[in-house]
Amino acid sequence: MQNVQPTASHFINGAYVEDATGAAIDVVYPATGAVIATLHAATPAIVDQALAAAKAAQPVWAAMTGTERGRILRRAADMIRDRNRALSELETLDTGKPLQETLVADATSGADALEYFGGLAASLTGEHIQLGQDFVYTRREALGVCVGIGAWNYPTQIACWKGAPALACGNSMVFKPSETTPLSALKVAEILHEAGLPAGLFNVIQGRGDVGAALVTDPRVDKVSLTGSVPTGRKVYAAAAQGIKHVTMELGGKSPLIVFDDADVEDAVGGAILGNFYSSGQVCSNGTRVFVQKGIKERFLARLKQRVEAAVIGDPMDEATNFGPMVSAAQRDIVLGYIEKGQAEGARLITGGQRIDGDGFYLTPTVFADVTDGMTIAREEIFGPVMAVLDFDDEDEVIARANATEFGLSAGVFTRDLTRGHRVIGQLEAGSCWINTYNLAPVEAPFGGAKLSGVGRENSKAAIEHYSQLKSVYVAMGPVDAPY
Ligand code: NDP
Repeated sequence: MQNVQPTASHFINGAYVEDATGAAIDVVYPATGAVIATLHAATPAIVDQALAAAKAAQPVWAAMTGTERGRILRRAADMIRDRNRALSELETLDTGKPLQETLVADATSGADALEYFGGLAASLTGEHIQLGQDFVYTRREALGVCVGIGAWNYPTQIACWKGAPALACGNSMVFKPSETTPLSALKVAEILHEAGLPAGLFNVIQGRGDVGAALVTDPRVDKVSLTGSVPTGRKVYAAAAQGIKHVTMELGGKSPLIVFDDADVEDAVGGAILGNFYSSGQVCSNGTRVFVQKGIKERFLARLKQRVEAAVIGDPMDEATNFGPMVSAAQRDIVLGYIEKGQAEGARLITGGQRIDGDGFYLTPTVFADVTDGMTIAREEIFGPVMAVLDFDDEDEVIARANATEFGLSAGVFTRDLTRGHRVIGQLEAGSCWINTYNLAPVEAPFGGAKLSGVGRENSKAAIEHYSQLKSVYVAMGPVDAPY
């Protein structure tokens, strides 16, 4: 396994770079607590080196045709797929997520983004607007140097979801992964360059929030895309505003998943499981407030308990395991704190709620019922395997309650009445929604949040708008008619 690991802390200007004077960052395998690598945070010299490389490389890349840029991205996508197993094993070491998940949801999702935006690159165009004899044409131009800052739950995917559209549009990128999961983005950089990406266009540097902040405030940077929590989003958005920089903010959520009593209970339970326990609950779009109509509540809970208790918890490298540890001891302890609050505030524990003894950061998947809107576990993002089940009587009531949150990332509805499904989704204040499923995020669909959950969209053609800008050019065909 060691041989797939990156060979240094940073990847700058097409090569691995080390600067051991930076603060040490231990990379911990969450299943055992073992330190599997030690990297170093970027020093100011490393930050400068990465930004200088990105700045110098970008104009040459933007001057290439979209077809040429796209070909490189698509080649990288193929290489990622060829190496999926090794990359997935690395992702599992980095995050603790079961190999059963990482084999299908991480590097493969990154490859999808590179393939999709690689395919779009050649068709990015402006338009021609005829104005009598005169005309205007628009040029779709790159923004310049983009900074990507990632959360720890999907390190490969986040690097590719930001890098692929940025590069397709002719930008360069400096990416800073979360200090908790710093390895995989380096492999993305390595593969992109092996696929033919010119040096300097996709750089990865390590560090904590201070390194992120140094990147965001640097005058060479034109755009910042953050995946992280709302508090970090506020800081990064404010810092970017000083330089009137473009931003994309993919932030947290406390999303509603509404199950009407005509729903297929088995499907609804499946959706609630996918929307709460995949990646041990460390997914931003999770439907953590599960509103179940009273008529089917107990049936839903009984089946949910049965199925959740069938989860295979254990060694993430064993492909039979489908529920792994939390990413860190710190995150596990935060989640345990929420479980205690749930119990103290009177929610009914249906299953789970336990820390599993041992060196790994394991918790059992946890379901609370009889949760009310005011309880802490119904209001705050937990980012762990804790599902809150709330009951409701009717449609108008549940819509109002579902929207009574400052977040607006996602929402889901389970019902056999499709008219109701569309009517309800139309009224929910959220950016990424599902009817009769949950948490599918194909690259073809826009992804992002409303309200405090973010601004901008990732994936789909919509992402192009967030990594390019239009220049409009008025062309006069006759004399200039000045008043004096
Ligand atoms: P954080 O907000 O703690 O960190 C996100 C990233 O920002 C990290 O790389 C962090 O560095 C960096 N950072 C922290 N402070 C600053 C700063 N002042 N300036 C610049 N960068 C900074 O999020 P987590 O890593 O804990 O991830 C969990 C959060 O991410 C949840 O709220 C989750 O909902 C959200 N998320 C949103 C997604 C979406 O698409 N909407 C998807 C996935 C997660 P470091 O941690 O190394 O200090």
